[in-house]
Amino acid sequence: MPLDPSRTLAELKDLRTLTGDANGAQRVAFTPTWAKARAWLREKLSQLPVETHQDPAGNLWSTLKGQSPKSLLIGGHIDSVPDGGWLDGCLNLLAGLEVLRRLAESPTPPPVTIRLVDWADEEGARFGRSLFGSSAASGALVPDDVRNLTDKQGVKLADAVREHGIDIDRATDARMELENAAAYLELHIEQGPVLETLGLPMGVVLGTFGVERHAVTFTGQAAHSGSTPMAHRKDALAGVSRLHLAIREIAVKHGGVCTVGSVTTKPGIVTAVVGEATMTLDQRHLDPAALAAMHQDAREASQRIALEEKIDVSWKTIWRIQPFPFHPHLIDLADTATREICEASHRLPSGPLHDAAEVCRAGVPTVMLFVQSLRGISHNKIEDTKEEHLALSVQTLDRLTDAAIAWLTSST
Ligand SMILES: [Zn+2]
Repeated sequence: MPLDPSRTLAELKDLRTLTGDANGAQRVAFTPTWAKARAWLREKLSQLPVETHQDPAGNLWSTLKGQSPKSLLIGGHIDSVPDGGWLDGCLNLLAGLEVLRRLAESPTPPPVTIRLVDWADEEGARFGRSLFGSSAASGALVPDDVRNLTDKQGVKLADAVREHGIDIDRATDARMELENAAAYLELHIEQGPVLETLGLPMGVVLGTFGVERHAVTFTGQAAHSGSTPMAHRKDALAGVSRLHLAIREIAVKHGGVCTVGSVTTKPGIVTAVVGEATMTLDQRHLDPAALAAMHQDAREASQRIALEEKIDVSWKTIWRIQPFPFHPHLIDLADTATREICEASHRLPSGPLHDAAEVCRAGVPTVMLFVQSLRGISHNKIEDTKEEHLALSVQTLDRLTDAAIAWLTSST
C-alpha cells in the first residue's frame, strides 16, 4: 500500500465531523467526545498488524514490531482545546497512521520497531495542566501536584482520569513505554505566522521554549465604591493592571513572550473596590538564562507595584518547564527530508509547548516538523492549513521516518 496523503486529509475531515460542532473541535481530554475520538482511532489501528494498548497514564500506544526492539516513536495528541481547530494534535497522529500503513505493507518487518503514540491530555484545557500523559512517561509528573486540580464544575483531576482507566498514583509507570525508545518524531501545525510569512510549506523545529507559569495574587482592602476616597484605597486590581503593562515591556526587553490570560477579582461586584485580584502569568523563552531574567524582572516589578499601591503580592507556581533543544542529527535529517519534499526548509523555535519537550526531557533524541498555519491561528475553529501543504507534511514525515530508521539501523 503506497503512502496516500489524500487518505489522511479524508480522515482529518471525518474526525472533524465526528467530534466537532459549529464552534470547532470538542475533543477535550477525559471527556466522552475525547473517548469517541480515541475509539475511532483504535478502529483504524485495528485494521493494521499492530499491537495497541493504553498505558497507566492514558497514552495510547500502537506498535509495529520490527527486526529490533529498538523503537522509533511517532507521536501526537487527539485531544483538543474546547472550540478548537481541526488539525492541532491529530494531524501528527493521522499522518503517523498513514506512515504505519505504508511500513506495515512491506513483506519484511522494518529494521526497527515503529510505535505510534497518542499522548493523553496534551492541552491541559480542563485542569490547566498541559502534557499530562507525556510528562508521566518522562517521569516529570508529580501525582500530588495534580490530583486535586479541579475543572470548572469542581471535578477533581484524579476522579476524571479514573473514569478513563487511569490511577493517578500509577501514572508514572508509563515510563516503561520509553524503555527502547531511540528516536521521537512529531509533525505539528506551526500555530504561528513565520512559515506563512516566508512562503514555505514546512520547517524544522530547533526546540521548545521554556515556560514559567504562575498565579500572582494582589491583596488590598475591599471597600465601598462610593464612600472610599481615591487616596484611601488599597485597590488590588491596580496591582494586576500595572503588572500586566509591565510584563509586556519585560518581554520585549528580553526577546521572549509574556501573557496574562486570566484575571479574577473579589468581591467582583460593581460597587466595591477590589480586595483581592489574581492574574495568571505565562512567560516563554528558548534561552534558559533569558527566561530566568524575564521571570526575575516580573517578580521585582510586582513587589515595586505592591509597595506603591499599598497592597500585598504573593506568587504561586502553576507550572514551569525548562527550554528543550532538539537532537542536532535529527534536526539535520528533518532539514534534508523537508528540502527533498518541499524544495526549501527553515529552522525555527517552537513557542507553544508540545509532548516532544517531555520526550526530549526523558533523553530520547527528538525532532519536530512544522507545517505552515494559515494566518498563524490555532486553538480556534478558523485554524487551517492549505490541503496541498497537509499532503506535503505527510510525505515529509514519511521521508523523515525512513531517514531516521536508516540512522537507527546504522548506529546499532
Ligand atoms: Zn498540539
